[in-house]
Amino acid sequence: MNAADRMSRLGTETAFEVLVKAKALEAQGKDIVHLEIGEPDFDTPAHIVEAGQKALGDGFTHYGPSAGDPELREAIANEINRTRGISVDGKNVIVTPGAKPIMFFVILALAQEGDEVIYPNPGFPIYESVIRFVGATPVPIPLREDKDFGLDVDELASLVTERTKLIIVNSPQNPTGGILPKGDLEAIAGIAARNNIPVLADEIYSRMLYDEEFHSLSGYEGMEDLCIILDGFSKTYAMTGWRLGYGVMPADIAAHVTRLMTNSNSCTSAATQRAGIAAINGPQDSVDQMVAEFKKRRDLFVDGLNAIDGITCKLPKGAFYLFPNITGLGRPSKEIADRLLNEAGVASLAGPDFGVHGEGYIRFSYANSIENISKALDRTAQFARKLLT
Ligand code: PLP
Repeated sequence: MNAADRMSRLGTETAFEVLVKAKALEAQGKDIVHLEIGEPDFDTPAHIVEAGQKALGDGFTHYGPSAGDPELREAIANEINRTRGISVDGKNVIVTPGAKPIMFFVILALAQEGDEVIYPNPGFPIYESVIRFVGATPVPIPLREDKDFGLDVDELASLVTERTKLIIVNSPQNPTGGILPKGDLEAIAGIAARNNIPVLADEIYSRMLYDEEFHSLSGYEGMEDLCIILDGFSKTYAMTGWRLGYGVMPADIAAHVTRLMTNSNSCTSAATQRAGIAAINGPQDSVDQMVAEFKKRRDLFVDGLNAIDGITCKLPKGAFYLFPNITGLGRPSKEIADRLLNEAGVASLAGPDFGVHGEGYIRFSYANSIENISKALDRTAQFARKLLT
């Protein structure tokens, strides 16, 4: 079959490919430590699972509104108002199967051929993939290690042209674990507002912060009509496989995104949305426990990596990723990631899987046990020693 031209522009998320490779090695009897995939290794809290099961028994087995279950949309709006200090209502909330469709739909709705979209690089690979897919030009704003993986706001301002139709920001970030400081968020909001450019604020890791307060771009002046918040349940409540996410956005773009939902998914699973209500309105101690556990793992992992010759690693402030600098190993990132998997049994991702500015780094997810992280550290240290001798 001849595929449409646009298919050649669609990228992918390498994590899923590396997972397949790692599983194939396991099938051959190799022991692999999985640090490639970005999902909490915890189970969904029991009260959320029970709410989902009950919903199925109660008949939440039918189509629902494309924009989402009104009760869930209201609960999300209240949560957003509380955590971001803004004022939205349920009509501003669109519920989707996972948060990824918000990214896809918003880029599809706002950008086309001849347009430019500014996005973080290294960054979540789907941004660049979808920007190219819709025919727009991706304009990377580099995230720099010497700025704790923040960006230079003057550089961002210099990238804006009359063709810029969207700016994407992500904080806390995948893949670096960095966050954008409050002052930078304010400056970014100012740039967007002055130029009347919508901003997609990917806040999927808003609850995964270590000793830092979360700041949202949505709270700054001029953002009421321009900011689209992306958030969801996958990471916060360990619900990756349920597929439940949302966008919070001004009414005009909400209408477009709703139509895209009708044209693609019809609606998000009805029972899953009832589980989402239980997640938001129920006890939050499981989230706190998960974050406390991630912090222990982060500290152990960062210290361990910094003790290895050829590797240095910043202490990230959020999410559950490390982005160590591996230039001291004297090999390209892809080779290091491949060989770590094949020779040492440690699955990671190469920095360039997140864009050109990721060269010189690899990404580890620390959503794995202390025991497995210790094993990965031993193996990585041995691998690095071998490489440098
Ligand atoms: N945004 C970022 C930065 C992510 O890392 C991810 C998942 O890895 C998503 C969005 C998508 O989340 P979901 O699984 O809810 O689609």
